Amino acid sequence: MSRIADMVVVLRKRAYREQDALLLLFSQHHGKISAVARGARSVKGRLTASTEPLAVARMELYQGRSSLMTVTEAELVSLNAGVRRDLGRTGRAAILADAVDELTSDLDAAPGVYDTLVAALVSLGSDRDPTPVYLHALWRLLGAAGLKPEFDRCQQCGAPWTAPPWFWRGGAGPVDRACHRAGDSPLLPGALQWLRLMDSQTDPAELGRVQAAPAVYAVLDQQARDFLIYHVGRLPRAFRFWDAVAPLAAAPRLKGLAAAPTSKGMTV
Ligand SMILES: [Zn+2]
Repeated sequence: MSRIADMVVVLRKRAYREQDALLLLFSQHHGKISAVARGARSVKGRLTASTEPLAVARMELYQGRSSLMTVTEAELVSLNAGVRRDLGRTGRAAILADAVDELTSDLDAAPGVYDTLVAALVSLGSDRDPTPVYLHALWRLLGAAGLKPEFDRCQQCGAPWTAPPWFWRGGAGPVDRACHRAGDSPLLPGALQWLRLMDSQTDPAELGRVQAAPAVYAVLDQQARDFLIYHVGRLPRAFRFWDAVAPLAAAPRLKGLAAAPTSKGMTV
């Protein structure tokens, strides 16, 4: 039997018994935790708000004889309400939560995962363009899981980059023209430049500060998906939700934001 007190992000909340909820949490110091929250689906339950999906809370958990932990106390820190204001933000946040689930093991506090996820939720809830925030966070999460390739040289022969075009080979990462073979997908020079710039930014608060063209974002998104499938064996479910809502989320307002970098931003 043990007790844990930690900061957590609620990755998932499911109905359980009459008014209880089954939670999947990612905690700052203990990694991924499955827990029951009693009464967390009743309107006036004291745990209801702090166990909403994507909420950040300080929780106390207790493990008795069951393999599941039980939430005994929860203090809401942030609902991340800004994330829910449009589909573009909600869909991306859901992908990041799913990716954290897929890329981490129970009770393994992979360094960098909690900080990246919390910073991504804050940035997605702000006025920042959600696309680069989401892509930057997703690539950081891949890095925290030990899956990110190096971006400064060909992953096949080790030579530093000379001239474009570059290509991307499934699990290996970027390769140069000399090493590419049929089936490797083209990697736009801007995409490689963006990945290298992102790699050099270590402050989670700077997520998504570097902007790029929509074509570059599309390549970065596809490479991240291919990479996840290669390493995890499947695409997290939230990608399918996103693919269904993306046409609705691509409202003119969002396109306008993407085309106008903030004064603090950069464009590759
Ligand atoms: Zn090479």
